[in-house]
This record gives sequence, structure tokens and C-alpha cells, in this order.
Amino acid sequence: MTNPPSESVVDRFLRYVKIDTQSQDGATATPSTDKQWTLARMLVEELRSIGASNVRISDHCMVYANVPGNVPASPDVPVIGFIAHVDTSPAVTGANVKPVIHANYQGGDLVLPGDPSQVITVAQNPALATMIGDDIITTDGTTLLGSDDKAGVAAIMTLVDTLVRNPQIKHGPIAVAFTADEEIGSGIEKFDVAEFGARFAYTVDGERLGGVSDETWSARLATVTFRGKSVHPGTAKGVMVNSIYAFAHFLTQMPRDMLPETTEARIGFVHPYLGSADVEESTIKVLLRDFDIRELDVKERLIRELAGASAAAHPGVSVQVEVKENYLNMKEVLKDHPHLVEHVMEAARRAGLEPFLEPIRGGTDGSRLTFRGLPCPNIFTGGHNFHGKQEFNSRRGLEKTAETLVHLVQIFAERGAAR
Ligand SMILES: [Zn+2]
Repeated sequence: MTNPPSESVVDRFLRYVKIDTQSQDGATATPSTDKQWTLARMLVEELRSIGASNVRISDHCMVYANVPGNVPASPDVPVIGFIAHVDTSPAVTGANVKPVIHANYQGGDLVLPGDPSQVITVAQNPALATMIGDDIITTDGTTLLGSDDKAGVAAIMTLVDTLVRNPQIKHGPIAVAFTADEEIGSGIEKFDVAEFGARFAYTVDGERLGGVSDETWSARLATVTFRGKSVHPGTAKGVMVNSIYAFAHFLTQMPRDMLPETTEARIGFVHPYLGSADVEESTIKVLLRDFDIRELDVKERLIRELAGASAAAHPGVSVQVEVKENYLNMKEVLKDHPHLVEHVMEAARRAGLEPFLEPIRGGTDGSRLTFRGLPCPNIFTGGHNFHGKQEFNSRRGLEKTAETLVHLVQIFAERGAAR
């Protein structure tokens, strides 16, 4: 028998989502918003009161804490970390979140009471069909829910609470962290990997129950700049070279079957998304994405060729293509640590779930940490429809996520980790 945590994961979650922690694009400081401190400081207090060790918070709103192991220290039982983020997306307001519990869900569409135009439909959310009898947690339709990532925060807090109250559960040393500004991509730079002290970690920031990710795609940013010659249009004959025409030509050459709006699953894309057009200089930023680094090279070559051909078709226009590496598929590192995924799949099965691998069409804090020396796959939280007013999770989603984490630390104690 295990002693229950001092507070249920659902009650924790319902408390945390009511705290506005929205981050803000374009801010230069970390955290980008002062309100993230409110939840971070609260977590510090709660970690201390439930008996975590070495609880501390950095100047950049990063919370770190530990649970010492209760099996003999051994290099085979490494420090395992768990990370979740406190902020919510800048896309939709996170102020005055009023969670609504649809108890004992019996099927059908969910109409959100604060804005009846917001309907979570079975047609668009096939996962609902698997949730009969569950208690589904939505918003009232006027805000996001913030299950991304307060579900992860609540699950990790419940893990700590459960381990402290149940010394009979055998586990190695645990490190936990709650980070700021994940949604704007900048917070993780202020995360101190050495301070955290884990050998391996998991971000608990995924979606559907059972979904585990050890792959993100590899990402580059191409900036294509066409240069012409601007003179007064009244006296331009034979002198002006308008770079806008080469710029337009380039855009019409984008391969239709290789765009975000025409691809899914493991298929990568090129995506012109932001630019400016002017006679003298026209520039466009193009995202390049693929799970396979060789295919990403192919996409980069294509962009360079199309840019060159577009300039060549417009005499007098020159072109420059600059390409930056944004991040790499974490699988490039995680393939050398297969136990990280094997253990979490086994943990999910012990929790009664059917785990599955899911490549992420994006980057995660974990992918960045992986390349900073902390291999870090991503674990589900039970959440759906992130960053929107139709975001939802459920009692079972939260409970099974927390339960999986408790199994996972025991599996590391039982089986160790290949180093
Ligand atoms: Zn998230």
C-alpha cells in the first residue's frame, strides 16, 4: 500500500492553472513577465513543506530541488531529472482561468459555458471517445487552460510528495526543476545544467496519454536577401534595378508539396514566413525543417538554387543566402541512450497505458538540453489542444501521468542505466 500524496494531483492542478503565468514574446529579460515568480515562489514553499531537499530558486526564476535516493548510491543508478515549465503561451490569455470539470463524461461535444461558440467536438478530438467515464477538465471558453504545462508541474510535485511519504518505494537520487519562459524559447538558456545535477532527464510537457518523444526535427533558418538599385522613379530609366521582382519570383518557386500547409507527420518543409520588400533590398526568412539531417541539407541546397536562379532571371539583382542552425533532432544523441525511452515505456505500461513514440514537429527545451549534455526525452501529460481556448486534460490524464513518473524512478532503481 502506498500513502496518498498530501494533495491529489487534480487538486494541485486546479490550483496552479488559476495562477496567471503567461510569458511575453519579445521581452529581453528572463523571466519575461514578473507574474511567473508568483507560481515559482509558491512551488518553492510547497516543495519545502512536502519535504523536498535543497530547494532553491535562481535569479531567472528557475526552481531546483532534490529527493535523495533510498537505495545504495551506485553509478548504475544515476540522478534522474524531471522538468516542467511554469509559463503559459503568449497566444491566448491565461488571466482568470476558470476550470470547468465535466464529471463522468458520457460522450458528445463539450460546450464551454463562458463562450458557447467554443465547442470541443468529438469530430475534431477523437481522443474524447477514449475518455468515457473520465472527468474532463476544460476552461470556460474565455482563456487557455494552461495544462501546458501545469499538468507537468502538478505531476512532478505529486511525484516528490509521493516519494517523500513512501520510503518503501525504492528509487535513486531525483532532481526536479520548474522553468520560466519555455513558450517563448528563451528561458532554457538560463537553465543551469550543472546546478540541476542530473545525468539524464525528462521534460514532462507532452500531450496525449502514452505519447513519448525522443525525436524533434532538425531546424535551420535561411535568410535570403535580394539587392537591386534604387533611384528616383522619375529618372529611373535604364538605371533602376527593382529587387522586388526577384523576391516575388523566388516566392512563386516554393515547392507546393513541401510547405507546412501541405505536410504532416515525418515530412519536413520549407516555410517562407517573414520578410520585407523594397526596391533596393528585399529579404525573406525561410524556416527549413526535417527529421533527417540529409533531407535538411537537400532543402537548404534547394533554397540556395532557387534564390540564385531568381536573381539570375533579373539582371542587375544580386542575392545572398545566409543559413543558421537553430537546433538538431535530439535523436542524434538519444539513440545512444535507448534505456531512457525503454524505461518510460515500461513505466507507462505499469500504469496501465499503451505507450507510443511520437516525433515532435518542433523543438523542445529537452532537445536543447540534450545537446548541452543532458539527454532529455519528453513525456506525455494527458493534455490536448495546447495554446488555445479548447485546451483540456482529465482526471485520468493527470493521475496516470503522475503514476507513470512514480513507476519510472523505480525502474531506474531496479534496472539502472547504461552509461
Ligand atoms: Zn509546454
